Amino acid sequence: MKDLIGLSKEELQNEIAAIGEKPFRAKQLWQWIYFHGETDFTKMSNFSKPLREKLQQNYFISRPKIVTEQQSSDGTHKWLLEFSDGERIETVYIPEEDRGAVCISTQVGCAVGCKFCHTGSQKITRNLNACEIVAQFMVARDAYGEWPSPTNETRYLSNIVVMGMGEPLHNKAEVFKALKILSDGDGIAISKRRITLSTSGIVPHIEAVAQELGVKLAISLHAPTNEKRSAIMPINNKYSIEQVLEACQKYQAVMGMSRMITFEYLMLKDFNDTPEDARLLISLMKKYKLGAKFNLIPFNPWPGCDFQPSSNNKVHAFSKILEQAGYEAPIRVARGQDILAACGQLKSKVSS
Ligand code: SF4
Repeated sequence: MKDLIGLSKEELQNEIAAIGEKPFRAKQLWQWIYFHGETDFTKMSNFSKPLREKLQQNYFISRPKIVTEQQSSDGTHKWLLEFSDGERIETVYIPEEDRGAVCISTQVGCAVGCKFCHTGSQKITRNLNACEIVAQFMVARDAYGEWPSPTNETRYLSNIVVMGMGEPLHNKAEVFKALKILSDGDGIAISKRRITLSTSGIVPHIEAVAQELGVKLAISLHAPTNEKRSAIMPINNKYSIEQVLEACQKYQAVMGMSRMITFEYLMLKDFNDTPEDARLLISLMKKYKLGAKFNLIPFNPWPGCDFQPSSNNKVHAFSKILEQAGYEAPIRVARGQDILAACGQLKSKVSS
């Protein structure tokens, strides 16, 4: 028996051909799976009984097991999901007034090991496959009953942020495959303008985010100098700030300058939060001539971490300096802190 979730359109066509059916059946099946969210072959009403039986004998349409589900007082919703081998990850839905983003994970644990990140304290176990990445969004859609796929304007689960557990560009093939499925217009159809891939800066793959996917890019920058960045993000010893920004230039050369790159910047007390740090960031952006905006993130402490959040005054002063230089620099409102669902807090194992 084979799971149909996570197969590309071409792979689904091959499966349909292998059971002796015509290609148009693959398109219908795709719509049942990704437009209607159907998991039961017997309910696929435009299929003959023999075809439904054939599908049932050879395939299934999976969802991961929901181990726990938590809802924050601010509406943020977190699922701990378990896959067939027992590995677990977390997925979060962050609602806004009339829309919301599903934050999906791409690995069990993470090899990058950023010092401020709860996920990074959980060693990498394995990559998720496209099925496991796509299924996270489908679990969220199941929970909110958003089947069949609503139009862009009316959907509640409107955006995807690839910012959960893991470094997506360490799992490029499966992440790209999953995002192509999630953005396919015949199914779930999340617009590429509403998908953001966030990376710690895996330089060799950044241009491909534009070339092969065309989704929005966010870079976890978190420091204005290599010395400081290397102290909290070991990946910076491999790919320096300069190399990351050069790769961003290539992304923007493909996507156009109007497709702003978001630089995520965690505000850590007495580490990266001075006016001088803000001015160094501005110099970097001017030097590389990037269409950029900043996302200032108040630090969410987690059990055992060494960092403290910057004071509100410092964060606001930092934001003001960036804005006076012409860069948007909103301060992210922390969401789901009471259920450890905020940025950098996800973790699926108690100890590692
Ligand atoms: S911030 Fe992202 S890249 Fe860094 S350790 Fe956490 S999950 Fe990995």
